[in-house]
Amino acid sequence: MKKIGLTNKIFIALILGVLSGVALYPFKENLIIKNYVIDFFFNFLGTGFIRAIRMIVIPLVFCSLTVGAAGIEDIKKLGRVGIKTLSFYLGTTAVAITLALGVGSLINPGKGIVLSQISTTNVSVGETKPFIDILLGMIPINPIEALAKGDMLQIIVFSILCGVAMAMLGDKVSTIRKGMDELNNIVLKIVDLVMQLAPFGVYGLIAKTFSTLGYSAMLPLLKYFLAVIFVLLLHYLITYQSLLILIAKYNPIKFLKKFSGPMMVAFSTSSSSATLPASMETLQEEFGVSKGISSFTIPLGSTINMDGTAIMQGVATIFIAQIYGVSLTMGDFVTVIITATLTSIGTAGVPGVGVIMLGMVLQQVGLPLEGMALVMGIDRFVDMFRTVVNITGDAVCTLIVAKTEGELKREEDATSVNENTLA
Ligand code: ASP
Repeated sequence: MKKIGLTNKIFIALILGVLSGVALYPFKENLIIKNYVIDFFFNFLGTGFIRAIRMIVIPLVFCSLTVGAAGIEDIKKLGRVGIKTLSFYLGTTAVAITLALGVGSLINPGKGIVLSQISTTNVSVGETKPFIDILLGMIPINPIEALAKGDMLQIIVFSILCGVAMAMLGDKVSTIRKGMDELNNIVLKIVDLVMQLAPFGVYGLIAKTFSTLGYSAMLPLLKYFLAVIFVLLLHYLITYQSLLILIAKYNPIKFLKKFSGPMMVAFSTSSSSATLPASMETLQEEFGVSKGISSFTIPLGSTINMDGTAIMQGVATIFIAQIYGVSLTMGDFVTVIITATLTSIGTAGVPGVGVIMLGMVLQQVGLPLEGMALVMGIDRFVDMFRTVVNITGDAVCTLIVAKTEGELKREEDATSVNENTLA
């Protein structure tokens, strides 16, 4: 019998998770179902998997970025890759939010919705941080503390510096360099082991979400939900596919086939950080992108590039404005574009942060923050979809950078590198 690949296993687990969740939803108040199945069994599988992934994220980011930066011996090239990556990330986020505002204004997701139809949740607002503080906050005062606390931007800055210093010192630090390479291999092996557990984790996460919330949770907000999904799809089909075809010269169908593993991990974990190991492994092994590039672009992207989140914020802003009967001016639109693009840098790649950062966007254009409570009720579902777009943007950028650096191996070479990873 043909062995089932990991991607297929994850997909089967996802479907089984939805089925079990929906089947158990009517019994969610039953004590046995609630205590033993949902809160124990599903929770153990799902949360256990997330914990195992979180365990490897920081060692992986540190090792791979350091080794990656050290591996790009030519410092000029590192600078070039850095500038390309940053411009792509910020550029696509601005396009994403503009698309969201444009489509949102056309389809009016909030027209005809009566506030009392919607049950609200408690609101907590994202702290409004001036841009200068975001910039200064990237410089770690204490790198060890940054690693211990998991402050991703600070870890990225410090790891790149270590790598650059190693590249500059060359042979003088060959022992440490070799050691870092080996450490990196150990971390990658652990990634491989943890990813074997993905089908179980995905099953637990999805089954728990659907058995607790059902889909009735979405009904009154269906229009908003569908509007977000529509723009996410549009951004994927128009922006990403044309970038793939025109710049990366990559067949979008092949891309989807190869990248569906990480997409499913993103969908079920709702976390770019948690998907980082799967994305990096797939880009290196399936697409043949060099470690030098992917270990730079992916950790950075999963931290600062959030196109899906920006789309949700754009549609939510229009939705909330319409519900409260506020009309937004052109100036407000520009403010939303700038704020959402910049806040995406400070949005952590973990579940539910995007909607908290929405507070900043609403504040900038003077919309009532209570509006956030409306969209929070169904944010768990929206988060699944937007996270897929968030990580897809990182992968598309990686392919573009690899292509323009002349490093994208031919597809046939890439697929034969390793058969036992996400296939
Ligand atoms: N869950 C998203 C991510 O990890 C962030 C968010 O929008 O909440 O990419």
